[in-house]
Parts: sequence; structure tokens; C-alpha cells
Amino acid sequence: MNIPSKYPLTKSLALLVTALSFLLASGCSQDKPYRESRFLMGTLVEIAAYPDTNRVRTAVAEAYVRMEAIEAATDHRKEDSVLAALRRGERVTLSGDLRAVFASAMMIARESSGAFDPTMGKVVSLWGFDMDTPRLPLEQELRNSLKTVGFEKVTLSGSIIKAGSPVWLDLGGVAKGYAVDEAVKVLKEQGASAGIVNAGGDLKAFGRKPGGKRWRIGVQAPDDHQELAGVLEIANGAVATSGDYERYFETGGKRYHHILDPETGYPARSGLRSVTIVAFDCLLADALSTAIFVMGPEKGLELLKGRDGVHAVLVLETGEVLTTSGVGSEVGFERR
Ligand code: ADP
Ligand code: MG
Repeated sequence: MNIPSKYPLTKSLALLVTALSFLLASGCSQDKPYRESRFLMGTLVEIAAYPDTNRVRTAVAEAYVRMEAIEAATDHRKEDSVLAALRRGERVTLSGDLRAVFASAMMIARESSGAFDPTMGKVVSLWGFDMDTPRLPLEQELRNSLKTVGFEKVTLSGSIIKAGSPVWLDLGGVAKGYAVDEAVKVLKEQGASAGIVNAGGDLKAFGRKPGGKRWRIGVQAPDDHQELAGVLEIANGAVATSGDYERYFETGGKRYHHILDPETGYPARSGLRSVTIVAFDCLLADALSTAIFVMGPEKGLELLKGRDGVHAVLVLETGEVLTTSGVGSEVGFERR
């Protein structure tokens, strides 16, 4: 089933949305979920929830309301946003959501030794990836913007961010994951017995579908968004992918994508085409997928050691597909 083709999306968005199309077992049950799709957080957010009752339909509407609130709290583009005030050097108090997303982003920044860095905002906006108007920056511009990068210069004290100079936060690498987790909480609290929230490939599934089937989730092949590198099968949990084909532009015969190396300010070239992470929380899966994309296969797999319930599928530039030991046992995986 190809969900995105039904929607009049731009090419880049269509690619983003197809990053992971979830495959719902068709025709296996008469119990159909209630489904709704809305455009949110720069992507198509699809929710499917069981059973299809009025109560669950209301829960789905509430889940979208929750995601909209998180989108507003973590948006850095509007001049009246908290993140815009932070880049002007103002002292601001973070809302509960912003604090939660930022604290998690800082944790992954520390654990990945800065491969994931939420203070990349100025560099990301220089490339225009946050605005869908990408362009190749001048080297001098990049060098200047890199001076604002460094998670270690920033501390969180209660709900206040402390830093010596203005902070350019970009939470694009984690906010979607957090929003997916929160939407699932709403669905569960409000009576859904099973369901899935899929924000353009960052998704979380919960509960057993009628008939007890597990959730099947396609891992996209990098060069053709109709093709799959494999299919994951999970009972409960989240999946997120970072790939160099999700958002990119070409100029001068070169391809530039949206996952940037905080050391250089340029798109990360680590030998990977995509990183898919399975974890219990989508926020963790989202942040780790971005971090590992920057770190590359060797250091990336090192970062995953000792994390129970976290699994990875890496698609290398060579076309080779690497998986962690739990893939194929703890979570199902069929190569394509
Ligand atoms: P997507 O948003 O397409 O799902 P990711 O989860 O991989 O992709 O996040 C990429 C986004 O994260 C970029 O668009 C940018 O906003 C931000 N970003 C880019 N590079 C980094 C980085 N090294 N650390 C943290 N955030 C990053
Ligand atoms: Mg991510």
C-alpha cells in the first residue's frame, strides 16, 4: 500500500513521507482501525487506532491536538517563539514539552559525543533545510555559524537554559519522535486498544491488532521509495529512520542532504545511506538514528551496545545491510 501517492505532496515531502511506509496486513481481519491523516510537523502524520468507535475517534482528534501543541512549542521559525527568543539571547522559561525534548536531546548529545547536537540551529538554517529552501552556503558563512554550535556550552537549570551567548536550537532531530510518543499516550489513555502513529516514517505502535498479528514496518531502500530494503515486525514499540534521501538538493553535480556533521557543518558522510532504529520510545529512536547517521557504522554500533530493546538496521553506501543481533530474533526482519 502506498499511502503517500494519494496526496499532492512536493517531491521532497513525498520522499520524506515514504521514508518508512507502514504495511498493515490487509484482508486478515474484519476489524478495521479508524484512520486519519493530517499534515503536521512538516510531514504527513497518519494515525490508525482500534477499535473504530466514537470514543477512539475522539481520542485520535485529541492526539492530533497534543501533537500540534508540541509542534508549536518546539518550532524555531516563528519570531514570537521561545526558541527565537533564545537565539536573541533572551532569558526564557521552557514549557514542559520543550524542556522534555531539550533534556533528551542534550542526553543524546552527550552520549554521542556531539554527533547529535541540538545547538546546530544556525547551521541548519544556513542550509535552508528547515525552510524547504535549501542552498549551498559559502564556506565563510559556515565557519561563522559553526561558532554558535556546541551542546557543551549550554546547561539546563530547572526550566532555564544557561549559556554565555545566544543559543540556536534546532530540535528537528527529536521533536517528531517525542510528539509520536505523546500522541500514543493520549490514544492509550483515551481507550484505544491498539494503534500506530506514523509521522513520515518515525512511528510508534502499541497493543495487539485484532487477530494478534504484529505490526509490519517497511524499511525503505535508499534510491527508490517504492522499494524496500526489508520489513521489520514488532509487537510494541517505535521505529525511526534517518536517511540521506529524505531531504536533499543537488547543485554542481553534487548531492547535499539534511543530516549535518556538527564538526564540519556539511552533510555527514559516514558511509551510511540510512539508519533505522527500533526502540521502545520514538524520541530515543529518532535521536539515535540521527546520531548514528553522523557517527557511521562502527562508532554508531558501539553507541548501541548495552541498550536493551534497542535495535538497528543500517543501509551502507555499498548497498550492504547491517543489523544488530536482536534483529531477526527480538524483532522480526525480512530482507528484500
Ligand atoms: P527527519 O526530520 O527527516 O526525520 P532526522 O530525524 O534525521 O530526519 O533529523 C534531521 C533533522 O535534525 C534536520 O533536518 C535538522 O533539523 C536536524 N539536524 C541535522 N543534523 C543534526 C545533528 N547533527 N544533530 C542534531 N540535529 C541535527
Ligand atoms: Mg532522527
